[in-house]
Amino acid sequence: MHTIAYFDSSHDMPEEVISAAGFIPMKIMGDVHASNDPADQYLQKFFCPAARSFLTEALAHSEEWAGIIVAHGCDATNRHFDVWKLHVKTPFLYWFNSPIRNDAVALRFYIEELKRLIAALEKHYRVSISPESLKKSIAQSNEIKKRLKDISTLRAIKDIPNREYYNIVSACVTKPKAECMTLLEKTEADWKNRPDFPSDKKRFYLTGSDVTYAEWMDLLDECGIRVVRDDLSIGERYFANRFADHEDPLEAIADYYLTIPRSATRISLDGRISYILQSLKETAVDGVLSQNLKFCEPYAYDAVTVNSELRAHGYKVLHLEREFSPALDQQVMNRIAAFTEML
Ligand code: SF4
Repeated sequence: MHTIAYFDSSHDMPEEVISAAGFIPMKIMGDVHASNDPADQYLQKFFCPAARSFLTEALAHSEEWAGIIVAHGCDATNRHFDVWKLHVKTPFLYWFNSPIRNDAVALRFYIEELKRLIAALEKHYRVSISPESLKKSIAQSNEIKKRLKDISTLRAIKDIPNREYYNIVSACVTKPKAECMTLLEKTEADWKNRPDFPSDKKRFYLTGSDVTYAEWMDLLDECGIRVVRDDLSIGERYFANRFADHEDPLEAIADYYLTIPRSATRISLDGRISYILQSLKETAVDGVLSQNLKFCEPYAYDAVTVNSELRAHGYKVLHLEREFSPALDQQVMNRIAAFTEML
């Protein structure tokens, strides 16, 4: 019972506060192999299937967790919180109200929300979350983000299957942080000794809904695509930035979470586009794959403007909608094959 699980539709949950309270922060990822029937008792089938899978996981495992925090992200997070309050058994269910804006008012708001979260954790678990323990968690997060960023650059030059990249980032949001450090050291040593980037693969930028299972990354490999850059939350958004030095750790946390690359669930479409364009300037790619999970409206809406801008800058962009399934989708594979043949 040392884990506090969190439902985070992007990268909005300040894991550092959970670590500073002495718990293991674990992002709820769902299970694409399990039927969503348990969640479908409470949610309509036209609701995002990834979020339904998070509920299925919570219904099955919540009693193994010390508590659950839902970080405000897409609309699924708001709606779920009300459903989870009624149906998920947990001694601690907390709503962390991460703001959608990132201006000076949002910064002040965020710091107040952090104080509320800390007070709630201290009261419920009878722990003390000191500035020192927060600073320690921040330093640990910075180390993990630095290492992830370093190894992620190897994707464009070494033979690193998409699944392996997905697995290491996913481990960093679900496993104890000390374990992640060991895993990252081993991965770095391994990846540095890999053969060069395979000549039969194309380098791609991946954007859109978060991918929450490795099989979809396998599908891209099957299609001859290697993801060498991305802006996903279980991806570069998680490690693009690091915490800056601040005397007050709450300011450091608020500053970090409000200045990381924006997701489609946040205001700032221009910010998203400039971030993607900057990444594309840094790393040459053959094409951009934009995808949205069926019923994931934030990314479906954004994709229209984001993709037009990328095309206007001369990038070849394929957009597609995908199912939430581990099976290789032949229709999707045919579309990708037709697109890559034209490159
Ligand atoms: S896939 Fe889209 S709709 Fe589903 S939880 Fe993530 S952001 Fe929300």
